Amino acid sequence: MATRDNFSDSTKRTLAIRAAHFCSDPHCLKLTAGPHSDPNRSLTTGHAAHIHAASPNGPRYDSNQTPAQRKAIANGLWLCRECGDIVDKDDSPHSADLLRQWRTVHEAMIAEVRTKGYADSLTLLQSRRVEPIMAKKIIGALEDRRALWQTFDAELPDRVRQSLDHLRSRLVDLRYELADGSPLDQVLLSLTKTIHTFFNTVETSDLTRLRCNSNDPEWRSFNDALATLRKAVGLQISNLAQAYGVALSSDLQTLAPRPVEP
Ligand SMILES: [Zn+2]
Repeated sequence: MATRDNFSDSTKRTLAIRAAHFCSDPHCLKLTAGPHSDPNRSLTTGHAAHIHAASPNGPRYDSNQTPAQRKAIANGLWLCRECGDIVDKDDSPHSADLLRQWRTVHEAMIAEVRTKGYADSLTLLQSRRVEPIMAKKIIGALEDRRALWQTFDAELPDRVRQSLDHLRSRLVDLRYELADGSPLDQVLLSLTKTIHTFFNTVETSDLTRLRCNSNDPEWRSFNDALATLRKAVGLQISNLAQAYGVALSSDLQTLAPRPVEP
């Protein structure tokens, strides 16, 4: 039977406290500790999950790790029992990088909550809970502009202008649903800036008149600005999609940078 490099009790306890006993899965954030019905006892329902599995048959097993690295706190994250079951399954859909990101973001949020008052802490916890939904909404807003992401649309500058105008106002609307300065608010701000930069670049052109013509320097400049916009949006949404585990449509995937082969 294969040996398992389990976490020590002390490592589990430290992981739980670092997560403030909340599940680190951003879609869940369930509290994993509380009072037992027996007034003399407490209840814990959390689970110290392995980022790289404790034994060769488990998910994300890394044969290059030493047993000490496998048992180390750096190889763990705190989850509720239900999320722990999914993460520890052999066919777990989660990558090691995604789990590490969950832990980093969750612990940073707990550190922030700890230093704030009760009401602010609740707002922060709440904003963290709506983040995955908001990430989907942002990506959805970009999906709605499907024509914009297809290359042939560079032939219709005025349509690009209208589409980007709609997208910009949709992104501004979404910002009202988020706490100022939250990670997703930053993403929205950055996307809005990208669009703003595009409009600044093409400011001198009358887009209602401009037509596709590769011999026309004005059209070429418009086309280059659009390529830059697509690249910038692609980079931002692929990071967003990865951080929140949102699948991108094939149109948006064409914008995302290709992963570098190891
Ligand atoms: Zn959970």
